[in-house]
Amino acid sequence: MSHYCLTPDRLERVDSWGMNRTSLAYVFRPTTAELMAEVFKIAKNNGKSVGLRGAGYSYGDASMNSENILLDLSRMNRIIDWNPETGLISVEPGVTIRQLWQYCIEDGWWPPVVSGTMFVTLGGAAGMNIHGKNNFKAGPIGNHITEFELLTPTGETVVCSRSKNSELFHAAIGGFGMLGVFTRITLQLKKIYSGQLSVEAFATKSFGEIIERFNEREADADYLVGWIDCFATGSELGRGLVHQANYLPAGADPNPAQTLRVKNQELPDTLMGIFPKSSMWRLLQPFSNNLGMKAINYAKYLQGSTIGNNEVVKQAHAQFAFLLDYVPNWKYAYKPGGLVQFQSFVPYDCAEKVFSEQIRLSHKLGIVPYLGVFKRHRPDAFLMTHAVDGFSFALDYPVTQQNKDGLTTLTQIMTRLVLDSGGRHYFAKDSQLTAEAASEYLGKEALAKFTALKSATDPDHLLQTDLSKRLFNAFL
Ligand SMILES: Cc1cc2nc3c(=O)[nH]c(=O)nc-3n(C[C@H](O)[C@H](O)[C@H](O)COP(=O)(O)OP(=O)(O)OC[C@H]3O[C@@H](n4cnc5c(N)ncnc54)[C@H](O)[C@@H]3O)c2cc1C
Repeated sequence: MSHYCLTPDRLERVDSWGMNRTSLAYVFRPTTAELMAEVFKIAKNNGKSVGLRGAGYSYGDASMNSENILLDLSRMNRIIDWNPETGLISVEPGVTIRQLWQYCIEDGWWPPVVSGTMFVTLGGAAGMNIHGKNNFKAGPIGNHITEFELLTPTGETVVCSRSKNSELFHAAIGGFGMLGVFTRITLQLKKIYSGQLSVEAFATKSFGEIIERFNEREADADYLVGWIDCFATGSELGRGLVHQANYLPAGADPNPAQTLRVKNQELPDTLMGIFPKSSMWRLLQPFSNNLGMKAINYAKYLQGSTIGNNEVVKQAHAQFAFLLDYVPNWKYAYKPGGLVQFQSFVPYDCAEKVFSEQIRLSHKLGIVPYLGVFKRHRPDAFLMTHAVDGFSFALDYPVTQQNKDGLTTLTQIMTRLVLDSGGRHYFAKDSQLTAEAASEYLGKEALAKFTALKSATDPDHLLQTDLSKRLFNAFL
């Protein structure tokens, strides 16, 4: 018996996380693989495509599918199997990173790779092959996935690992939901001996210096992340702050049973004990303009380069990893236009030049990013990889009615610089790439392999998203 029908009451408004795109889609939230298979049948019978969506935390159109079907996997959120001896966990795709760390931390395990927010799902994390502040050391999340089950649109379930269907394993991870639905993901977690990290903060005066300091420290650091003040120009261009974090070795924490408690990881509920977390973004809104953001960036640099310089503190894992979650809905400060993130990945030797030029160009066109985040990366074995042996720079631009066209011009010029340096882009953040640019950095060979796998797992090309149509209409 069929449970689902394609009726108008299924239509919902679906926004991109960056709030600069909106759409209507028929949304289904199944709780079993059988119901998912039913959705694929409905799509085929009605000439519709199916887009996959986890938490919808991709900045652009990667988990949108306008006027078609969206398979929202957030209700597939059961932990299937957990072994606290080995740290191996099997989960359904809608389990979030938050659910994962809260479930395992008291047994002394932590997700090996996390994004800057804990609200993403494991299915979405695998679909984009997310990286963390430890990418130079731990690689992307795919490096820690030992096996998954993939439901293809033909209704078949394929088990993939490094030894079983290895080609599909390396293509579906990072395959932006084009080859099938992850229905079960098995992940090896990281053993930890304390709920705290040792965190050191220090200031850097330029891109040259931040690259040098990352270089000196990467052998000994577990995590490294840089923040760049994008308002600084001239001799101050590229100035920023770095945070290095390290796990505590066994025996270093006198009270691991306490520091590993979820309660002692959580972010505070109020700011300075006064403002409830839920309304904190309203405090940011008056600063959400060039002058306000210039002042905030300056104050942050000033604090970090003076009293905060070379400070070493103990910080809970969740507090260090999910800094962006401190202020829930901080993105609302970018209303009404929303924000665009431009994250580019540039080879080591070109990074200083390309990133400096990105800031110069932003100033020249009068559209300055409010936030700039700098990370170290290394290549990985996944077919649609976004990583390079080099650095990434993630820039958050406000979108307004006035700057919209200028922003498109700016991102196109910056993309050219990235491609000419042998760099890459990342679908999780993208909303600006053109089809030509995406094909250029992915290369003919990778695209041909991916297209062949797509024809095998999804012969009717049912799996599509607004992003796949924007960038790969001709192939996928
Ligand atoms: C504030 C913030 C901070 C972030 N920080 C980082 C960071 O540090 N590092 C990083 O790498 N990314 C980061 N991201 C991006 C984010 O981690 C990715 O976009 C991630 O994919 C979002 O997960 P999701 O569950 O919301 O997936 P969605 O955005 O809903 O989907 C992502 C992709 O996965 C596909 N997909 C979803 N579920 C499945 C499934 N079950 N099977 C197959 N495919 C599926 C979708 O079709 C889509 O292509 C950040 C995003 C935000 C908003």
